[in-house]
Amino acid sequence: MTQQPREPVRVVVLGGGTAGWMTAAGIAALLPDLATVELVESDDIGIIGVGEATLPHIRGFVERLGIDEAAFMKATHATYKLGIDFRDFGRIGESYIHPFGTFGEKVADVGFHHYWLEMQRRGMAGPLGDYSFAVAAARANRFAPPETGEGLGSTYGYAYQFDATLFGPFMRQHGLKLGVTRHEGLVTSVERDGENGNVTALVLQDGRRIEGDLFVDCSGFRSLLLGGELTEEWEDWSHWLPCDRATAMPCAHVDGEPLRPYTTATAMPAGWRWQIPLQHRMGNGYVFSSAHLDEDRACEAIRNAAEGEPLADPRVLRFRPGRRRKSWSHNVIGVGLSSGFLEPLESTSIYLAQMAITYLIELFPDGRAIDPRDRAAFNRLVDMEYDRVRDFLILHYHATTRDDSEFWNYLRTMTIPDSLAEKMALWRDAGRVERYEDGLFYDASWIAVYVGQGLLPERHDPRAAIADPQRVKGALDSLRHAITAQVDAMPDHRAYLRREAGRLADAA
Ligand code: FAD
Repeated sequence: MTQQPREPVRVVVLGGGTAGWMTAAGIAALLPDLATVELVESDDIGIIGVGEATLPHIRGFVERLGIDEAAFMKATHATYKLGIDFRDFGRIGESYIHPFGTFGEKVADVGFHHYWLEMQRRGMAGPLGDYSFAVAAARANRFAPPETGEGLGSTYGYAYQFDATLFGPFMRQHGLKLGVTRHEGLVTSVERDGENGNVTALVLQDGRRIEGDLFVDCSGFRSLLLGGELTEEWEDWSHWLPCDRATAMPCAHVDGEPLRPYTTATAMPAGWRWQIPLQHRMGNGYVFSSAHLDEDRACEAIRNAAEGEPLADPRVLRFRPGRRRKSWSHNVIGVGLSSGFLEPLESTSIYLAQMAITYLIELFPDGRAIDPRDRAAFNRLVDMEYDRVRDFLILHYHATTRDDSEFWNYLRTMTIPDSLAEKMALWRDAGRVERYEDGLFYDASWIAVYVGQGLLPERHDPRAAIADPQRVKGALDSLRHAITAQVDAMPDHRAYLRREAGRLADAA
């Protein structure tokens, strides 16, 4: 029997920030005949305009939307990102890179890190980062896209660091090309169906009404539909993640400094500080806990810490860590800050918005009626994504020896979620990382942070201990040499960006 095509679903996206335009462009590109998309945004309110570092998953999204990478990089003044350099988290003076890539490779089905742990115990191995291609390239400020195939040059991924004020407008242009209809104006009221409570229309200040079947709330922290109109409850995680403020201050690059292909996160007495290198400037910010530091002192701290000349005064942003208990309620789906927020320690917010869009597309209503099973599945998936990220972030604060401030003493000694306690116990007892198919983060990420923050397991896979130590040492040494040789042949990060820009200009 042939399936009859249904009438397209009328999707209305409220908000034109990163989340709004990613949603609108994503639906328009991937569900062309199944949905029509209208987007409402207000120039008076504007966008949050922060959020510069991403995860490798964004590349797939950009590609699926048919966007040319070099053109996108140019338009958003973006740089490449191979990971995050965490400084002073486990202990003041120590640092490690959480790379977008693996450490070594499995031998006889035993994970590389088990051999490394054994050799490290014997004093026969260097730091774990020596065996990661991404770490070596980051430390050398070099970049080239990974190779295809199975060689060393294929063992890493990359993401982008872009100007958040340019990314939304870039996606807007793309969305408009894909047929999204844009309305500029302030939404002042919402119409609902008296029977089922579904939203039926957004009403703008000037009286325009935008009707729809499905509403995506991308109104940022305001959460106009999900939080405001539908009063969906917020699950507060500030007892685990007490940072609730950030002060952001862009700076000029320091002359002569290399362009880092990575984000830097430096732990501070009441939070941590980011440095995100873009092509034209450095993004800086201090994420902090207002219970441990006031806003004026945080602004002073970011001014003092900034290395380049400040390009603006520090701007304070306020937030609450957590997520809505339901991200899809009635016919409203929250994407982006309206559905939840986790501090940018691992650059996960845009990823979370992207995954919500992906799940929405997978579970998109077939016709105008919503199947409650799809809504429940969406909420389960989104919860899973948030919970996984939450645990990983808490690990950075909890696995520390820092006792130099009230903030760190609280985080080091607090009770953590059971789900994280179980993961940490598995690592501590057996050197193993909980496996899962969906959601962030994978083995190498957990291992990077555990080891980087000085949390070494009591035991590891016993098979790693029966291998001949001299042979294992030989293999580790040759891996390290091969990585160094290959990284030395890569272009400098800035040179690679120039080359790509030149290629784009030639093609124009
Ligand atoms: P917004 O950008 O706030 O957009 C909201 C939209 O809704 C706007 O267009 C506004 O005009 C519209 N709107 C609101 N109310 C109305 C109304 N009544 N009528 C009409 N329109 C309305 N994420 C990362 O992935 N990486 C990072 O490094 C990162 N760093 C961050 C640092 C900080 C300090 C913060 C606070 C966030 C960071 N994020 C980061 C998160 C990232 O900024 C957001 O996830 C992303 O920008 C998406 O925001 P949004 O589109 O949900 O909201």
